[in-house]
Amino acid sequence: MEVQGSERALRILITEDDAALGEALRYSLTHSGYAVDWMRNGAAADTALRSDVFDLLILDLGLPQLDGYDVLKRLRKHDGRLPVLILSGRESAGDKVHGLDLGADDYLVKPFSLDELHARVRALLRRGKGSANPIISAAKLDFDTVERVARIGERALELSMHETAVLEALLQRLGRVVSKEQLVERIYSYDRDVGTNAIEVYVHRLRRKIEGSGLAVKTVYGRGYALETTS
Ligand code: CA
Repeated sequence: MEVQGSERALRILITEDDAALGEALRYSLTHSGYAVDWMRNGAAADTALRSDVFDLLILDLGLPQLDGYDVLKRLRKHDGRLPVLILSGRESAGDKVHGLDLGADDYLVKPFSLDELHARVRALLRRGKGSANPIISAAKLDFDTVERVARIGERALELSMHETAVLEALLQRLGRVVSKEQLVERIYSYDRDVGTNAIEVYVHRLRRKIEGSGLAVKTVYGRGYALETTS
């Protein structure tokens, strides 16, 4: 899959040695449309942070091999930009201050609700994008790439996760053809069972849901789909 620049999904690295919590985080964030990597020890996270590009690090403190503070210290020597959210069972003010002093951006004490985690993640990703506008606008439709919500005026569209992914891919290539295979790849990171036939169903539903937006999904026979503005 060829992805570049703004066309890739936001990528989050989770570092958590607790299997149940790690799995819950991975599942929940993946289903919100993020590309998620999960490391179970600090050394693996340190290696991943040196070789791959992420948009956010969710970091447990008590980790095997290299603890969270050390992962953070090493990270900040070569990357001062990546937003870091510490998750920890250590709730003393001293731990919190120490984590923030080392360059973490936010700190969430366990146990926490997934709703709160998601809210913090969205806030950090928004901040991480700096002044870049996370909204893609075309005709009357606005798509928020961080909150993953499409709106026509003030009205939020009720799109499934798959329909949202298809819309985003088409919006990013407005007026150009996107093949079914490219759309399958877009969804594949969180649903490995999706096929090209399913894409036809998502596009069919999306066509109805974006009525009134001034946009239409055109079928380009044998090649794929293109999102175009209607005059
Ligand atoms: Ca731990």
